[in-house]
Amino acid sequence: MSMQRGVKQPRRPAGRRWLAVAWMVLPWLLACSSQKPLEAQPNLAPPAASLVAAAVPSETAPPAFDATRAMRYTREVVAFGPRPIGSKAHQKLEQYIYAHLKGVAVSDDLFMADTPAGKLPVRNIIAKFPGKKDGIIVIAGHYDTNYPLRDTGYVGANDGGSSTALLLELANQLRDKPREGYSVWLVWTDGEEAVRQWSENDSLYGTRHLAAVWDKDGTAKKIKALLVEDMIGDADLNIEREVQSTSWLMDLVLQAATALGYQSHFYARSIAVQDDHLPFLKYGIPAADLIDLDYGYGNVFHHTPQDTLDKLSPKSLEIVGSVLLETVRLVDLRK
Ligand SMILES: [Zn+2]
Repeated sequence: MSMQRGVKQPRRPAGRRWLAVAWMVLPWLLACSSQKPLEAQPNLAPPAASLVAAAVPSETAPPAFDATRAMRYTREVVAFGPRPIGSKAHQKLEQYIYAHLKGVAVSDDLFMADTPAGKLPVRNIIAKFPGKKDGIIVIAGHYDTNYPLRDTGYVGANDGGSSTALLLELANQLRDKPREGYSVWLVWTDGEEAVRQWSENDSLYGTRHLAAVWDKDGTAKKIKALLVEDMIGDADLNIEREVQSTSWLMDLVLQAATALGYQSHFYARSIAVQDDHLPFLKYGIPAADLIDLDYGYGNVFHHTPQDTLDKLSPKSLEIVGSVLLETVRLVDLRK
């Protein structure tokens, strides 16, 4: 994932540099964010409607989410070591994910990606939980880890580890429960990370492929909402308001967070982030990116060997996991 956000930080290291394309396409976003001082960005006021809705007590119990188990999954995923595409550890992780999905309808989207390091296998893993309503809600997060750092001891506890583990625990919550609402598909996306240096062609390999497949086979039209989660294990959790995301869906996430009392972890900052939601937005799919890009002071742990388990908290996994489940419930209820 990559970001751009005004004048707040010095030049970015390779792999998270600002995208020239984004500069051209989104100048107003940059202009907008560069006017705000880093330390004093006001929380965007949520629409009055979501405040009102959030004040109405939910009729069902808050969604369950086993944070201890999700944290154990994160530890187990990290124990495989660096998990870049094309690596042995990546293959082992694929098997680990499949092993957790026994009894669930699973399909994959496997292809060879053209990368600066040659052809590399990329596999999106899709677990399907059928519902009664006609339509699909997708929750996605990447399981590959940073490629250029693969020989540095980098393990991607937050960036790759937390997103993988969160989906595994969501699968536990969804399995064997008949759904009255839309079908829910969990997608472990692959090849999110750049192989050499982040660019439009060297990033988001898995989701660019999957979005095109879903556009062609008609799936895209059935998707009511697509929620991406990335780097959500940070003990100091601050989910950004990602400004390219579909705004009603971002509002719905805040409504869910507010209903659960977690709103203080959401949207203190508005920034544009290049992440797995973008390819789907291109095909008209409503999509939102839930990411915390303030990982350590000034994001210092991001894409460094310091992205380790000790920076994470099970509480953060629980916050994002239960907010996602509540958001699914709210999308189900949406007219
Ligand atoms: Zn990353």
